[in-house]
Amino acid sequence: MSHTPEPMVRFDGVVKRFGDNVVLDQLDFTVAPGEFVTLIGPSGSGKTTILRLLMTLERVSEGVITVGGEPLSHMRRGDRLVPADDKHLAAARRRIGMVFQQFNLFPNMSVLRNITEAPVHVLGLSPAEAEARARDLLELVGLGDRCDEHPSRLSGGQQQRVAIARALAMRPDVLLLDEVTSALDPELVAGVLDLLGDIARTTDITFLCVTHEMGFARQVSDRVMMFDHGRVIEDAPPEQLFTDPREPRTREFLQAVL
Ligand code: ADP
Repeated sequence: MSHTPEPMVRFDGVVKRFGDNVVLDQLDFTVAPGEFVTLIGPSGSGKTTILRLLMTLERVSEGVITVGGEPLSHMRRGDRLVPADDKHLAAARRRIGMVFQQFNLFPNMSVLRNITEAPVHVLGLSPAEAEARARDLLELVGLGDRCDEHPSRLSGGQQQRVAIARALAMRPDVLLLDEVTSALDPELVAGVLDLLGDIARTTDITFLCVTHEMGFARQVSDRVMMFDHGRVIEDAPPEQLFTDPREPRTREFLQAVL
């Protein structure tokens, strides 16, 4: 009998092509529930494509992605798996949240409405319930006093905190972080990363994170996966990967970015 828990995320022989360009090449990996996994690697190695597949913004060319044991990319039809239709994708993606580089807040809505919108319209929470949850989350991210502001009145760091609160309001099983500090002024980066580290430590959310912040990756990750040309070339705990990488390409990459 196996005691290995069902992975929260599983990529099984995933291929993604854009035309003739094979961006992900027979990719197999798993992420355990509650794990924090960081994806690193050169530009164009396929990291963002992985997040976009999980967000169902792209479809796999081959292979299967499962989240919480349920196929995301496919549906069961009898004994067979067939490519998922839009309705299945929409249902599946409710389990997954994402925080983007550019925040992507609704500019014409208050901070509070930015957070309550999806819980009310997608999850079917009552407005009062959604608002109570939003206020708690804004407190958590240090913006309890800014509920009624419009996003444009906030700093980039504060806007990103709102985006994090918005993602958490959907109670995702998996949270995807795509270069979430790249658009921030340098002095605002540490605060946002500290907040994410706290959330990772205090919740059971599973994280997949693409970042150039190697210090952060080293501090918070349970595992780091190094990508090159759409393949995982090294997968190790951060202490090992950052101090004693096995692969020459990992070493070269780290020398270039550290
Ligand atoms: P990374 O995040 O590691 O920089 P990406 O996943 O963004 O890499 O990109 C991997 C490859 O996929 C690149 O060669 C990129 O040009 C290509 N690619 C990504 N999205 C598209 C798209 N929508 N259409 C065509 N090619 C794409």
